[in-house]
Amino acid sequence: DTPPQARDTALFDLIAKEADRQKHGLELIASENFTSAAVREAQGSVLTNKYAEGYPGKRWYGGCEVVDQVEQLAIDRVKELFGAAWANVQPHSGSSANLAVYNALIEPGSTVLGMDLSHGGHLTHGNPVNFSGLRYHIVGYKVNPDTELIDMDEVRRLAHEHKPKMIIAGASAYSRQIDFAAFRAVADEVGAVLFADIAHIAGLIAAGEHPNALPHAHVVASTTHKTLRGPRGGIILSNDPELGAKIDRAVFPGYQGGPLEHVIAAKAVAFGEALQPAFKTYAQQIIKNARALASELEARGYRVVSGGTDNHMFVLDLRPQGLNGTKATRRLDANHITISKSTLPYDTEKILHGGGIRIGTPAVTTRGMTEAHMPTIADLIHRALQGETVIDEVHAFASGFRIP
Ligand code: PLP
Repeated sequence: DTPPQARDTALFDLIAKEADRQKHGLELIASENFTSAAVREAQGSVLTNKYAEGYPGKRWYGGCEVVDQVEQLAIDRVKELFGAAWANVQPHSGSSANLAVYNALIEPGSTVLGMDLSHGGHLTHGNPVNFSGLRYHIVGYKVNPDTELIDMDEVRRLAHEHKPKMIIAGASAYSRQIDFAAFRAVADEVGAVLFADIAHIAGLIAAGEHPNALPHAHVVASTTHKTLRGPRGGIILSNDPELGAKIDRAVFPGYQGGPLEHVIAAKAVAFGEALQPAFKTYAQQIIKNARALASELEARGYRVVSGGTDNHMFVLDLRPQGLNGTKATRRLDANHITISKSTLPYDTEKILHGGGIRIGTPAVTTRGMTEAHMPTIADLIHRALQGETVIDEVHAFASGFRIP
C-alpha cells in the first residue's frame, strides 16, 4: 500500500510543516494544547466512516452497535470526571454546545446576563454579530474597575434590574476563580437558569484544581480541546435529566445531524486520560507555570490584569509599553512565540487591536516545561516585544521539549 503521504504531497507536506511549526515555536495561546497520540489515533480512525444520527440505543441508522458503545464510554467517563448525572458528548464545538443550551432553555428575545466580552466573556455570550447577540437581549456584567475581579454585587444588581431568563458564568479571558455558588444564589433570587461555560477551565475542574461548576449550575457546557487536552469539540452536562432531555433534542435533531463518532472516541480517550492521577499533577503544573510566568513578566515591568492568576492564563496590559494587541502579536509571531491579542477591562484601545495580549500555559506544560523555564520564556517575550529578533533562541529552546 502506498502511504498517504506519497499520494497527496500537497496536503501532507503542509501537515509536516505545521508539525514543524508546533515543534519549534513557543505555544502560549491560552486555549490551545497538544493532544496525546492516542487522542489523535482515535480521531483519525475508521469511526469517521459511520453515520449515527440519534443517541446510543436510539439511532436512525443500522450498524451502530459499536459506535453506541464508543459514545456510551465517552458519556460515562465525562459524567464521572465532572460528577454529572447527564451528559451530551455530540456538540461539534464549544460554540455549538452553547447554541444548543440557548435553544433548549430560552426563547429568542429573552434577556441573558453574561460577562461583557471586553472584560473576558466569549463571542457566544452576546457578541452583536454572533447568534447570541443577534437573537437575544444581552446584558453584560463588567469586572470591578479597581480590582478587575468579577463583582458579585454588580452581577446581583444587574440581575435584579433586568430579570434575565439565563445567567452565564464563564469566560475566555479571566484569570481568577469563578464563584459558581455565588452565581447560583443570584440566579435563584431572580428565577434565572444558571449556565456555566467552563470551556477554558474544564481541565482544571476535572483535576480538582478549580471549584466545580456542578452542582451549582443548572447546565454546564465546555470545549474539550483547551485545558482538558482532548480533540476539538464540545460537551454539555447537567444534574437534571429533564433539562438534559431537552438539550439532547436541541442538539439532535435540533441543529446537528450525524455526530462525529471519531471525535467522540477521541473525547473518550481524553476523558480517560483526565481521570488518571497524572492529570492532576499536570493541572497543578499549568497553574504553577502561569503564576511563575505572570510574576516573571511583572518583574520585567509588565502589568498583569487583576495583578495575577489562579488558573491557566493571564492578560498583559501593554498600553504602558506603547503597544497594543495587534502590534504585540506581530512582534511575537515573527519570533514564533504564539499568543492571542486581548481586549482589557475598560480598554482605551480600539476593540480591533485590544490593549493587551492573553498568555496561557496549558500547551508548554504539556511539553514538560516547569516554573524553572518561565524566566527564559519571560525573557524571550520581553525581548521580542521590545523589537529584538529572538527567533533562533526560541527554536533552540522549544526544540528541547517533546510534543506528545
Ligand atoms: N466558550 C468559551 C468560554 C470559549 O473560550 C470558547 C472558545 O474560545 C468557546 C466557548 C467556543 O469554543 P469553539 O471555538 O470550539 O466554538
